[in-house]
Amino acid sequence: MNLSEWLMRSATRSPLAPALLTGTHVAADYAGFARRVMHLAGGLGDRFGVSPGDRAALFLANRVEYLELFYAIWHAGAVAVPINQKLHPREAAWIIGDAEAKVVFVDEDGADGLGPLLKDAVGHERAVAVGSSDFEALRRCEAVGAPVPRYRDDLAWLFYTSGTTGKPKGVMLSNGNLHAMALSYFVDVNDVLPTEAALYAAPLSHGAGLYNFMHVLRGSRHVIPESGGFDGAEILALAETLDSVSMFAAPTMVRRLVEHAKSTGSDGKGLRTIVYGGGPMYVADIEEAVAVMGPRFVQIYGQGESPMTITALQRDLVADRTHPRWRERLASVGRAQAVVEVQVADESGRILPPGETGEILVRGEAVMQGYWRNPEATAKTLRDGWLWTGDVGVMDEEGFLTLKDRSKDVIISGGTNIYPREVEEALLLHETVAEVSVIGRPHADWGEEVVAFVVAKPGCVIETSALDRHCLDHIARFKRPKIYHVVEALPKNNYGKVLKTELREWLVKLRG
Ligand code: AMP
Repeated sequence: MNLSEWLMRSATRSPLAPALLTGTHVAADYAGFARRVMHLAGGLGDRFGVSPGDRAALFLANRVEYLELFYAIWHAGAVAVPINQKLHPREAAWIIGDAEAKVVFVDEDGADGLGPLLKDAVGHERAVAVGSSDFEALRRCEAVGAPVPRYRDDLAWLFYTSGTTGKPKGVMLSNGNLHAMALSYFVDVNDVLPTEAALYAAPLSHGAGLYNFMHVLRGSRHVIPESGGFDGAEILALAETLDSVSMFAAPTMVRRLVEHAKSTGSDGKGLRTIVYGGGPMYVADIEEAVAVMGPRFVQIYGQGESPMTITALQRDLVADRTHPRWRERLASVGRAQAVVEVQVADESGRILPPGETGEILVRGEAVMQGYWRNPEATAKTLRDGWLWTGDVGVMDEEGFLTLKDRSKDVIISGGTNIYPREVEEALLLHETVAEVSVIGRPHADWGEEVVAFVVAKPGCVIETSALDRHCLDHIARFKRPKIYHVVEALPKNNYGKVLKTELREWLVKLRG
């Protein structure tokens, strides 16, 4: 089934329901949203020769046209290639070339420098600025009535990995993958109300965008904050006005939101659900978030290769403070979502019993079709029917999965594995520490030694001797950092993930 089918149904059922909003301003109702999509779909074919299965790229900031273009691409039976808007035009051009996109949509100022790069990468210079006369002309093209038929395994979304190592890879997500992901939200995360407002404060090219489908199916509101990004004050104000807001947020965003709520005395009124994931949420942070804002949080663990759908930790479990092992559960990423099987395996693929640590494997309806035109990487990642996630974790008897780290981030010192996350969790308990990231660095005797980068809380001074004593009280001696670097901020990507590769480069520079 074509992903645009759900939009067509909502437009028929509730044509006058508000659909696309910028802040509190309604830009289109569902009838208008569907109409714009049908015309743009026509324009894609007429002007750019986009046929079913062709790719069209989006190198855009969050804005309502992003959603219109998503659905226009799907309506025409084509494949959307959303690109992280913070990438350098050169990196974007590489992705557009790799995907062989027939056209790329950019912001008014986003075409600068991209044209000639496109010529080299993909042999054309079709970068259309949203709002330009070319774009407006597309809106006047003849509408495509019904969505072009699409089947379960047909591609719908090429999701380029953030590529912290090597070139990004295009994760092939099919209609079936995205439908499975969307339906499992209702089972594993939350129901969705027609009165709800999906707030896109995180980039639409990633998790926040993947989470649009349920809200289209239900005919709920889609809201782009006026700032186009993540601003704590704006989110809290919008939530109060719009009410029943749900949003996806990376852990760093949750922390910023909580800081803001604390400083203004807000309890997050109007925020129905904040789904957090995409990176480690430290127990101290989520405990504080629930204490300040109440039971509004649900955790998910996923990756582009199994989008938003590996495990979930539901709201009641995030808020529970009575179960004898509530804290352990809160430190976990929850249990397998409905549409996938999740296992922990050793290097040979042997499934390990509960309590043993190994690589996390996933199998099921949400798992990608493979990497775009990259059979070697596909063969490495999809083996014997399982997706090898590259994440290391352990499952308990009740199915709760706790992530240790990315396998490449595990530190091996004196032949023993040290999981940076455990050290980070311990350091975050110290009253002077705001943020921390732990990596390994080569050591002649030990193989690797533990190095911590720490950011102080405002008004606090970090004393490394105090941190060392603190670690001795909380974790095994051999796990504690041998070196501390106090820094102003940690390097992060656009999705709020700490870039450990960059920290490793800092270390090389620090050593001279
Ligand atoms: P991406 O494909 O860019 O979304 O990155 C996915 C990776 O982010 C996963 O393989 C995990 O390493 C990490 N990740 C996602 N969700 C969580 C979570 N809830 N807790 C910890 N790490 C996570």
